[in-house]
Amino acid sequence: MAEQIKKIGVLTSGGDAPGMNAAVRAVVRACIFYDIDVFGIYKGYDGLIRDTVEQLYVRSVSNILSRGGTVLLSARSDEFRTPEGRKKAFNTFRKHGLDALVVIGGDGSFTGASIFSEEFDVPVIGIPGTIDNDLAGTDFTIGFDTACNTAREAIDKIRDTASSHDRLFFVEVMGRDAGFIALNAAIGGGAVAMIVPEHNWSLEGLIKRLRKGAANQKASNVVIVAEGCHLGNAYAIAEQVKDKLDYFDIRVSVLGHLQRGGSPTTLDRVLASRMGVAAVEGLINGESKVMVGVMNNQVIYTPIHEAIKTVKKLDDEEFRIAKILSI
Ligand code: ATP
Repeated sequence: MAEQIKKIGVLTSGGDAPGMNAAVRAVVRACIFYDIDVFGIYKGYDGLIRDTVEQLYVRSVSNILSRGGTVLLSARSDEFRTPEGRKKAFNTFRKHGLDALVVIGGDGSFTGASIFSEEFDVPVIGIPGTIDNDLAGTDFTIGFDTACNTAREAIDKIRDTASSHDRLFFVEVMGRDAGFIALNAAIGGGAVAMIVPEHNWSLEGLIKRLRKGAANQKASNVVIVAEGCHLGNAYAIAEQVKDKLDYFDIRVSVLGHLQRGGSPTTLDRVLASRMGVAAVEGLINGESKVMVGVMNNQVIYTPIHEAIKTVKKLDDEEFRIAKILSI
């Protein structure tokens, strides 16, 4: 155990994700287990700049495991993007005698953490907390499984009405530029088609698929649209399809922010707990500027710059399965 790590700060940054609280709890309890003082920084980097920092204890994190959102609050800080902002943040860091920082967030938060670490020679470690699952170096990010379950549950309900009224539904799911939620929701929700940013599917291809389904007396049709897809949003795609397939009763449902909230699934809680402990143990063992991940059920540490710059691919096998099953 490296002697120098005696005080660790932890913050959540960027968009919130279900399971962030489980990660905070794990960081706090692992620190206390290893006799390290732990400080919660409220509102992400903004809190580091404005010194909204307090010491956390073993009971500070009681009863947060099952809660969505983040008890440490999150924020986006433009000031932290400037050298002056980061200097203020470092002053707070020093004032509390912190030795290292754990950042729970997405790629933007990790970029900030990496720059901060470079500038002030401070050990940092990232925990991937984002529903989008768009970070390399881990099979899954914290919040992804919960978001997929929420989307799938909504699709199940939409399907009830789609089949009762013989309707075609376009359901838009989150994921920014990545189609991970869409792919999982499409397989889990039995969609007739999905449109994701990673695959350049044409409108004509979609129409062909829908016509084939209609010819095969498909009882209900749900098309999943990833928010960042190339053909436009769900409303725009529905309009274009309407022009070509006038016999369909077409409806659109945008799931939006409800996918971000809610109590985390068991998978997300376990993932977050493992990553929180691994982050503290990584710092103790001298890791820095790395992101904790779990790949093939093993904890691994990936340099932050790699986790950010590597584009994580959709699983080809899952994509193939979705296609086979949508006939
Ligand atoms: P999500 O995936 O949910 O969007 P994120 O971590 O990618 O999460 P961002 O808004 O991109 O969210 O970043 C969070 C914060 O990280 C920013 O508000 C900013 O304070 C900091 N940050 C992002 N990029 C940089 C950068 N290039 N330099 C310094 N700080 C940055």
